[in-house]
Amino acid sequence: MSIRIAAHALPSGEAIDLTIQDGLWSDEYSLDLDDRIIGWALPGLVDVHTHPGAQKPGQAIDEELLRKQLSKNIDQGVTAIRSPGLASNPPDWFGTDSELPRAFHAGPWLAQPGQFITGWGRRISNSDFPRTAAAQAATTGWCKIIADWGIDDECISEELMAAIVSAVHGVGGRVAVHSQNESGSAAAVRAGVDSLEHGMWLDESLLDLMSKQGTVLVPTMKVFSLSVDRFLAQEDSPKRDWYVGGTQRHPALIKSASEAGVRILAGTDSPEFSIVAEIKELAAAGLTPTEAIGAASWLARDFLGLSSFQPGASADAVIYSEDPRENLDILDFPEWVILRGKVLRRPKIGNEPAENRQ
Ligand SMILES: [Zn+2]
Repeated sequence: MSIRIAAHALPSGEAIDLTIQDGLWSDEYSLDLDDRIIGWALPGLVDVHTHPGAQKPGQAIDEELLRKQLSKNIDQGVTAIRSPGLASNPPDWFGTDSELPRAFHAGPWLAQPGQFITGWGRRISNSDFPRTAAAQAATTGWCKIIADWGIDDECISEELMAAIVSAVHGVGGRVAVHSQNESGSAAAVRAGVDSLEHGMWLDESLLDLMSKQGTVLVPTMKVFSLSVDRFLAQEDSPKRDWYVGGTQRHPALIKSASEAGVRILAGTDSPEFSIVAEIKELAAAGLTPTEAIGAASWLARDFLGLSSFQPGASADAVIYSEDPRENLDILDFPEWVILRGKVLRRPKIGNEPAENRQ
């Protein structure tokens, strides 16, 4: 089967006219075309922070659940994910199955003793941290460090974080850091980590450094804003103030970060949530529609080393009937999903919202 995509490609909206040869984009045309696809094209959506495959703390990855959740990603137009932390090491087909998203991952979360979700992740002593993180990153390209967990937890120091970054970069890997505290975020940014996850209490004076060294911010806004009412209903406590205050300062921080040149990327933090909802949160925080969509598409692909619509690049695309920059709601209605040159979803009669599809 031969396909020709004659569509407007974001971010510029310029017309592209490409065919697919051996899973790659090509600008050579053949006459026996089965499908000529028109519309508005993204190189796929990307969820750079999700933890598929397990539901309850302590459970290992369940392959059937993992497959189901990744298939739902495809329904939603998500052609690549990054998992900064998994319940266990994933099966060999994770990221390579031809019908499921590309996947990057950091193996199990790495945390200090006494921190993080009981039953998940590995607890590492300070003296072992750099070596363990480097060993993980040498295997999968990424490690995920919990810089701080609870409100009163001791954060990983800047000195230790710098030793971790040095060891991981030394093996060609990258470091993703979870932080919800000011000192953990400061240590991560000063140590030059590759991605800061959440980071709601980050001091804005560090944004220029973040921008200069290319540390991205993955706020995962939706997962926090969804819980804020539950905390607001509680009695005053330091934990309540920490959670509510962090969630309330997140939008302005993200806007300032973007203005300082920090790359903002979109993540759901859970396969239960839609990446489109996160795009809308980023837009509500003040990113332009192009920036918000880019955070979950071409900017994220570039960060993960995936190229987009050039001849010779892998043929990944999601096609919409309207320009998503004009109407973010259309992102819930992907018409075509193409991955590694293969059509995985095509328009359905009636085209109901992706989350309603079976
Ligand atoms: Zn997470």
